[in-house]
Amino acid sequence: MKKLLPTSTAGSLPKPSWLAQPETLWSPWKLQNEELNDGKNDALRLCLDDQLRAGIDIVSDGEQTRQHFVTTFIEHLNGVDFEKREIVKIRDRYDASVPTVVGPVSRQKPVFVEDAKFLRQQTSQPIKWALPGPMTMIDTLYDNHYKSREKLAWEFAKILNQEAKDLEAAGVDIIQFDEPAFNVFFDEVNDWGIAALERAAEGLKCETAVHICYGYGIKANTDWKKTLGSEWRQYEEIFPKLQKSSIDIISLECQHSHVPMELMELIRGKKVMVGAIDVATNTIETPEEVAATLRKALQFVDADKLYPCTNCGMIPLPRHVATGKLNALSAGAEIVRRELAGK
Ligand SMILES: [Zn+2]
Repeated sequence: MKKLLPTSTAGSLPKPSWLAQPETLWSPWKLQNEELNDGKNDALRLCLDDQLRAGIDIVSDGEQTRQHFVTTFIEHLNGVDFEKREIVKIRDRYDASVPTVVGPVSRQKPVFVEDAKFLRQQTSQPIKWALPGPMTMIDTLYDNHYKSREKLAWEFAKILNQEAKDLEAAGVDIIQFDEPAFNVFFDEVNDWGIAALERAAEGLKCETAVHICYGYGIKANTDWKKTLGSEWRQYEEIFPKLQKSSIDIISLECQHSHVPMELMELIRGKKVMVGAIDVATNTIETPEEVAATLRKALQFVDADKLYPCTNCGMIPLPRHVATGKLNALSAGAEIVRRELAGK
């Protein structure tokens, strides 16, 4: 990006109420068949329009065509039985009924490529596409086939790489892998998690990003955050190895979190998507609050590598709140851009 401090969002944005139940994760679709396909495309265009009107620089589909950032991708793969469900603890935090891996996993055909092509046709702005990361995928399943988290992650990494290459060919500028699980399983991240992530990104010529957050603003996550103490140093465990990885951009949660900003020094040299919008509150940040977070981040991230962003996806928020937050992000970035230009 030539523009300084290009803004983007971490992932999902609210869906219109005629497409899915608002403020709800895994909300069922309200339309069917052909109507559903048209509805998803209409929602994608509206969501893009909201981003462009707010002045967001790197735009996305806002995940309008997916029910959930992990499961919708897995639904399209062979080897996973969605009828056979088991209760597992997701990210060591909350119980969920999840599908079972019953055989070798593979991708029959591209999953999101038609959606990405559609988004590409609508705008000449840079576009970012989010995929689940391998470790977060295995953490959302019960594995009755490979019986090894590492082996299953490696198989998913190969599948993700096929999808990522197809997305790149469709004109996607940045492919982002969502790895909230990186904030929980530090030993595994360092043993094989980052290697699996690099396998997913292998051979890509477009830019690659990894999004590592403390989760959506849902109760299970906000309760968990209360147990983490006054300083959240989870990133410290994984940053040294990430700094040496082949991933170009690291997307982090910084607004209102207890993450010490100086930890970003450990990934010096990487581009950093700095979360300057809290997704766990309906209170809309003022542009000045956003600017304050970005100024702090500038102590540890070079200006040409700082990408103002949201902490996480905004699907659980009311639409007007999400739109307000997009505007605040844009206005806050502009304040700091002017300051930098005046230096
Ligand atoms: Zn997130």
